[in-house]
Amino acid sequence: MIPAQKIYWHTTVQMPNESDVAPLPNKVEVAIIGGGYTGLSAARTLAKQGVNVAVLEANTIGWGASSRNGGMVLTGLKLGMQSVMKKYGQEIAKQLFQCSLESIDTVEQIVREENIDCGFRRYGHLLTANKPNHFESLREEVEFMDKEFNHRLTLLSRTDQHAEIGSDIYYGAVLDECSGGLNPAQYVSGLASAAEKAGATLHAHARVTRLERRGDHFVLETERGSLNAESVLVATSGYTSSVTSQLQKKIIPIGSFIIATEKLPDELARQLIPNGRMIFDSMHYLNYFRLWDNRMIFGGRAAFFPETSKTIQRSAEILRREMIQVYPQLENVNIEYVWGGTLDFAFDMMAHVGEVDGLYYSLGYAGHGVAMASYLGKTVAEAILKGTIKEHPFASFSFPGAPLGLYDGRPWFLPLAGAWHKILDWVE
Ligand SMILES: Cc1cc2nc3c(=O)[nH]c(=O)nc-3n(C[C@H](O)[C@H](O)[C@H](O)COP(=O)(O)OP(=O)(O)OC[C@H]3O[C@@H](n4cnc5c(N)ncnc54)[C@H](O)[C@@H]3O)c2cc1C
Repeated sequence: MIPAQKIYWHTTVQMPNESDVAPLPNKVEVAIIGGGYTGLSAARTLAKQGVNVAVLEANTIGWGASSRNGGMVLTGLKLGMQSVMKKYGQEIAKQLFQCSLESIDTVEQIVREENIDCGFRRYGHLLTANKPNHFESLREEVEFMDKEFNHRLTLLSRTDQHAEIGSDIYYGAVLDECSGGLNPAQYVSGLASAAEKAGATLHAHARVTRLERRGDHFVLETERGSLNAESVLVATSGYTSSVTSQLQKKIIPIGSFIIATEKLPDELARQLIPNGRMIFDSMHYLNYFRLWDNRMIFGGRAAFFPETSKTIQRSAEILRREMIQVYPQLENVNIEYVWGGTLDFAFDMMAHVGEVDGLYYSLGYAGHGVAMASYLGKTVAEAILKGTIKEHPFASFSFPGAPLGLYDGRPWFLPLAGAWHKILDWVE
């Protein structure tokens, strides 16, 4: 029997105070919409420099993807570096890859400086090959990353991979020891405390319902009154709404779902993932999994639509089946938790930052936001302090909308996209 939606991570930490409804200030220098990693990391950076900053969150602080994710702190971007290089050229690709390495350093630094108890460690990640030709692509990737980026990866054959994973279904894997892992809810909760300690004010249950430019400032109407701000940062990720309709039209909200098993005996947990790596596979409809406190945390894009009680239940069944395919050892293990959250995909699968007339944004992490949202939140805040974002590497390429403008923020094409990905997984 699979339980109803319950986020396992939330049971491991006291999430920021739900009943905290301190009155909104009348006026701030910077208002941030969204209280996840992006908003809180930016708020911490700005407040540390003495900026008067308020975070406005529709639900509770950390409510969105930031407390629901897999906790994988990954190198690289969603789009493979070979594709990034083909599209944007060598120089930009090198800058972006460097940013991805710095994004992990950023998480490490925040955790250390703020003393956040979230189990961050450089566990390394393992990308597994679901088909023999995927393994050949991984071999090319290892050579490419070494030659172009001087980034060392380890290719593991079907036999060698057993030192890293207790499963027989993969055709080999690649190991990147730079990546890390953490408990996402503990991290976002610690980040919220750090932003507050630096002087930012955090406002739960303050959904922004209207945003308007009036002369030299913005007026933000919220469910709890309005406030004026000189600048605004939109940090709403997969939950971006018609309040910022131009951004909503460029972001596709996609569901991702996770199950967590009961606690496994030490020996079994060690057998499944001997070195505690963060693992994901090479499919379009990919699965990702890891251990935490001897539980198997197994996620995937089992349904494309964002989380509802229906997509969560369906996903739980699919994920359980897929987990057992990877690990038949878990056939009789209980699933104690299941939950979903929403990811933010741009049409080019890249993260984007920018500014239009004092309105800043950072979004489009496509499943790489634990590190990237922490980093882009921080560096966009630095750009706000400087007064220009033009030099930011993630502002150096265009932010495309839907082909032919066929999207108004309601993702009617998700069933088609889901079917298309299934076809790709079948033929590629
Ligand atoms: C199931 C799942 C697994 C994932 N696994 C990983 C992983 O292992 N590694 C990884 O790197 N990434 C992963 N991700 C992605 C990662 O969690 C996100 O990229 C990251 O948390 C984005 O942070 P954020 O602060 O930009 O957005 P969020 O944390 O989503 O926060 C956005 C907030 O904006 C608020 N909001 C929206 N509209 C308004 C409004 N009008 N007014 C006020 N507030 C508003 C929302 O309530 C929400 O809390 C996963 C995501 C999901 C859903």
